[in-house]
Amino acid sequence: MTTVTIIGLQDMTTVTIIGIGLIGGSLALSLRQQGLATRFIGVEASTEHAHRALELGLIDEIETDLATAVAAADLVVVAVPMDAMLGVLPQVLDAATSRQVVVDVGSTKEKLLAAVADHPHRGRFVAIHPMAGTEYSGPEAAVQQLFAGKTLVVCDAQRSDPDAVQTVETLFRALPMRLLYLDAADHDLHAAYVSHISHITSFALALTVLNKEKEEQRIFDLASGGFESTVRLAKSSPAMWVPIFRQNRTNVLDVLDEHLRQLQELRRLLAEEDYEGLRHSIEQANHIRKIIS
Ligand code: NAP
Repeated sequence: MTTVTIIGLQDMTTVTIIGIGLIGGSLALSLRQQGLATRFIGVEASTEHAHRALELGLIDEIETDLATAVAAADLVVVAVPMDAMLGVLPQVLDAATSRQVVVDVGSTKEKLLAAVADHPHRGRFVAIHPMAGTEYSGPEAAVQQLFAGKTLVVCDAQRSDPDAVQTVETLFRALPMRLLYLDAADHDLHAAYVSHISHITSFALALTVLNKEKEEQRIFDLASGGFESTVRLAKSSPAMWVPIFRQNRTNVLDVLDEHLRQLQELRRLLAEEDYEGLRHSIEQANHIRKIIS
């Protein structure tokens, strides 16, 4: 276990996780492994998930009363789907005192932050988005190293109490994560570009192949690395993604229009047998190598 000196976190022992799925469960494993907390309380909508999280050792206790779970915690992590988040976060802040730090891990921020903008305990809340995930969900999907080396976006940090921000910075740097500070509007715009559009195109690719290739066995036999890696995200759950697309609808529609334009252009080049144009477009696309090796 790594030894970490946590400035100002001497008293932090208990973490309450609301929604013990992929992200909540992985965070519990990571914080425990780094010795950053010792007691994990889980609050879950699904009794089955709660008991599985207990069996898997993600949490030590299940609590059904939200206010009791918040009162017992030093840190409260809200890790539920984005539609539920809009209802759960204000309730958590209602129960929070100046002793607790509350974080969400949601994939969209503008609507959520607007919903709690005037809450009397807004200062105790730090909005974060770990840029890490997989296509799986639920407590079984939790993995210990999910966050190591990844980026944590901290949104509208100036709206949170400085000590709450410092606690969050210290904890997540210890995982270890890189911290990036954005305002909520910028976060949602860039998340649409780098995350949300990838999921939409992956869903579309899966639907395309499922419609065109009626023989499932053929897909199974022929699917190779390229297909598998581009369609991987299409395994992601609608319970998670429909609320994200709903809450970031304007940005996702904007980037989707550009994506459709690019697809139409590639189609035109191929239809007109403009192979020089096609080569040029692919060379332009290869510039992504400079950014992502
Ligand atoms: P997940 O694996 O589906 O886990 C969410 C858990 O929350 C589920 O067990 C769900 O139970 C439970 N839940 C739903 N409503 C609840 C409520 N009102 N109270 C308590 N528990 C509730 O989802 P996830 O992937 O961890 O995502 C959680 C959050 O992290 C989302 O806001 C998402 O936007 C964000 N996020 C996800 C990723 C990713 O790659 N997956 C990455 C970064 C951030 P049921 O299944 O029974 O509804």
